[in-house]
Amino acid sequence: MTSVKKTPAPRRGSPKLPPVPPPCGTCTGTGETTTAVLVGRKNRVIDATQAGLCPDCFGTGTT
Ligand SMILES: [Zn+2]
Repeated sequence: MTSVKKTPAPRRGSPKLPPVPPPCGTCTGTGETTTAVLVGRKNRVIDATQAGLCPDCFGTGTT
């Protein structure tokens, strides 16, 4: 009878965590971008910004 030596599975101290995706460079991880508010027919830029969804990460904040 041949005995097959079973190697025990290596025990890991901590479960493997999924890799953390790098933060979005456009919104720096916030998921939102601020754009200047344009008013009037000439699209004059006023001293105000509005928050918008980041077009690169769609609000997730990661690439
Ligand atoms: Zn983004």
